[in-house]
Amino acid sequence: METLLNKKWHNISKEETISLLGVDPQKGLDVFETEKRIKHFGENIISSKRQKTSFERLLLQFHQPLVYILLAAGSVTAFLGEWVDSFVILGVVIVNALVGSFQESKAVKALKSLSATMNVEAVAIRAGETVRLEASQLVPGDMVILRSGDKVPADLRIFSSKELRNDESTLTGESVSVEKNAQVVAGEAVLAERHCMAYAGTLVSSGQGRGVVVATGNMTEIGRISGLIDSADELETPLTRKITRFSHMLLLAILGLAGTSIVIGLARSEPLSDVFMAAVALAVGAIPEGLPAAVTIILALGVSRMAQRKAIIRKLPAVETLGGTTVICSDKTGTLTENQMTVQTIFSGNSYYEVSGTGYGDEGDIVALDKGITPRENLSLEECVRAGALCNDARISNKNGRPSVVGDPTEGALLVSAAKFGLNYKDEFKSLPRVDELPFESEWQYMVTLHEQDDGVVAYMKGAVEKVLNCCFQEVLPNGENGALDKQSVIEAQQKMAAKGQRVLALARKRLPADSALERQDACMGMDFLGLQGMIDPPREEAKVAIAACQNAGVEVKMITGDHALTAQAIGLMLGLRGSDCTIGQDCPVMTGSEIGELSDTDLIEKVGQIPVFARVSPEQKLRLVMALQARGEICAMTGDGVNDAPALKQSDIGIAMGISGTDAAKEAADMVLTDDNFATIEAAVEEGRGVFANLVKFIAWTLPTNAGEGLVILLAVLFGASLPILPVQILWINMTTAACLGMMLAFEPKEPGIMDRSPRRPDRPILDHVLLRRVGFVSILLLVCAFGLFEWELYNGASLEKSRTMAVNAFVVIEAFYLFNSRSFTRSPFDLGLTSNPWILGGFGVMMILQAIFTYAPVMHNLFASAPIDFLDWVKILLCGIVVYLLIEVDKKLVGKDV
Ligand code: ATP
Repeated sequence: METLLNKKWHNISKEETISLLGVDPQKGLDVFETEKRIKHFGENIISSKRQKTSFERLLLQFHQPLVYILLAAGSVTAFLGEWVDSFVILGVVIVNALVGSFQESKAVKALKSLSATMNVEAVAIRAGETVRLEASQLVPGDMVILRSGDKVPADLRIFSSKELRNDESTLTGESVSVEKNAQVVAGEAVLAERHCMAYAGTLVSSGQGRGVVVATGNMTEIGRISGLIDSADELETPLTRKITRFSHMLLLAILGLAGTSIVIGLARSEPLSDVFMAAVALAVGAIPEGLPAAVTIILALGVSRMAQRKAIIRKLPAVETLGGTTVICSDKTGTLTENQMTVQTIFSGNSYYEVSGTGYGDEGDIVALDKGITPRENLSLEECVRAGALCNDARISNKNGRPSVVGDPTEGALLVSAAKFGLNYKDEFKSLPRVDELPFESEWQYMVTLHEQDDGVVAYMKGAVEKVLNCCFQEVLPNGENGALDKQSVIEAQQKMAAKGQRVLALARKRLPADSALERQDACMGMDFLGLQGMIDPPREEAKVAIAACQNAGVEVKMITGDHALTAQAIGLMLGLRGSDCTIGQDCPVMTGSEIGELSDTDLIEKVGQIPVFARVSPEQKLRLVMALQARGEICAMTGDGVNDAPALKQSDIGIAMGISGTDAAKEAADMVLTDDNFATIEAAVEEGRGVFANLVKFIAWTLPTNAGEGLVILLAVLFGASLPILPVQILWINMTTAACLGMMLAFEPKEPGIMDRSPRRPDRPILDHVLLRRVGFVSILLLVCAFGLFEWELYNGASLEKSRTMAVNAFVVIEAFYLFNSRSFTRSPFDLGLTSNPWILGGFGVMMILQAIFTYAPVMHNLFASAPIDFLDWVKILLCGIVVYLLIEVDKKLVGKDV
């Protein structure tokens, strides 16, 4: 088997390829052979880009400006011989780095395991059967079927192709898709010119094909060029970027303040060690050590909450952006509707027929309406349902005794209507075997298949009514003869059916001489019209509720569909969609793809806002719509499933791919994947996103006063030449323990009721608005007053420096603990929320108090942190401070509180 390695497969004929690989191209490999080969070659997995090792992650934690300050502070204290301070500062830096790297690797792991749930699948021929399997199970010699939108699962030598084009940009950098066919190319051809090869990791942008696997895993071209496969380790988000910018500003402020305090101290001729200790205290006090870790943890928790609600986040920033979404553009079929198609009306031979029965079972009948020709006497109707059954790739399977469709539900519905007429699609396939085809592509909106019959071949076509009518000059009459086509009556029939919300497909046929093949250019010529089939696809009940919730939350919902305008309008009406100032079905226009095409960019930007339904839209037009919405300042979420949707998904602020019906290309481009293809899941994710963002803001508004308060306390002491009320080591104790035991508990804060009654957050809005900034300032001053006041009061009453400082430290912690309860909501009191609705807060509060008791009474802490015992009355004073601060903030909330 080693002989298979490093072969120039592109230069080897098909026949030689199969003999080298030992495979029968019709039947594929058998079970024994695949097992043998997987043992020999291993699974078809490419080791991803070299990950940062845990040690590298740890080292990178030190590469942050604020850590530099802490390290400098540690060195200064060491230089001054304050070894305890120096070790504690170093300890904090190390603990912080450990926590940070641990959190980061957990977040990366979580993202990775999520992307693993979206493993690529492949369709292969094994032991004569067409099977769907995980791409990792492919072995050299497997025959693989490629369809538009697939990610090529391994390196393949193409055997047959139909309009096959691949996007090889991941491999060659070339963004224009390349045609693929089975012809041998020269041995020296470079990768981009090897048209008979499809390489792993590239995407099928159109057409179909078959190929044999020649290399798997790390032996594939992409596997060899290590580092090309991107792994999901991007942990940066708009918010973390803002925080990084903030910490750079903070760095300058801290350096400035520390410098000022040194100058003041020196001017006062204070001892050098005091001057430097004050500067160190200022520096360590003002740094919000817990902030970066907290942000990552809150975002990571958001990712897992969303996954529980069936929305898989592929890119971390999406968690945050989702909360700010202002417009959701959604597909119709399958996302807003059930994708359970049932043909209800047929128009053929100028007569209407009603089809009874629902679902994919064949119970039901076809009856003529308005005294039309009976179904059995109408030969054009028979051909119409036959065309539907043959120009079709779906199958009906009877899993667990219930008929269900394998493949496209639209096509499934056509198999069922044929069965209700009395045609069995399997028998039809046998008597009219398919010899060629032009697959359905959204941009063409039709499909054609070619079938062998006794006297030549027959082509059957199905697709969007306008497209099919364009190809027809004549129609098949009920007696089987051809007659003149009355396009107007067909269009009227279509409009009647579409007004009921039915998706209408037109069917046509043409007879051709034997040996004819299908080509896109002339396939659509000289067709004979057979009829229309109108199918219902009921709107999803949960989508109606979700749309109402979105509209209530100030998030506009727009339906963008490939379907006909009237069908789209009827479904939009059933779903309760509405325009910004109009009602569907009354004064709200439906914009069609061709109308979009006629508008200039400026006109589109102006009009796009008011329109809730867009019909007959091509994937390229989706991209224009997203750009127009973004130009209006909207934060746009866009769904997509097809290969051509990828650019629109990439362009949108949140690209959403369908997990079930979506192609690999769409999933790859998306920020989020819906595992249930359901619109309601998008609404759930927006809700979670809002919750996550609110918790982030709550944490930031809670944590900043500690740092500002500590900075102010030290600054004031320096200004007045007083002793420091808190020492650097004590400051670090406060920062570390309160962040871990108190602040982090906000991450578990449940979403506040009514979170979907607020309007979306504008992206340019600062994280802390003026109300919150004022509150941060207010709490900082209260901390300053209480801690400094208690410290000076104790000293004045003759307490030791140690005891007075212990009072100040406890004041900080207790006030922060009470302020934590305030911070659970920006408008509601903790009693409104329910004191136990976030039990983590109560637990954290309890642990914090135990830690403070240890800090205050344990002798070892007296040595390490220069603390001293305090008595009962002292605790009462401190608790009073906490309660007063709590009450003041509650009053402030009632007066000016505003939700984020
Ligand atoms: P959306 O999810 O955007 O609402 P859609 O399913 O309505 O998508 P497309 O799949 O692009 O949009 O289909 C566009 C039109 O092409 C349909 O209205 C229908 O007329 C036709 N069509 C859909 N599926 C097929 C098919 N399998 N074969 C032939 N024509 C089809």
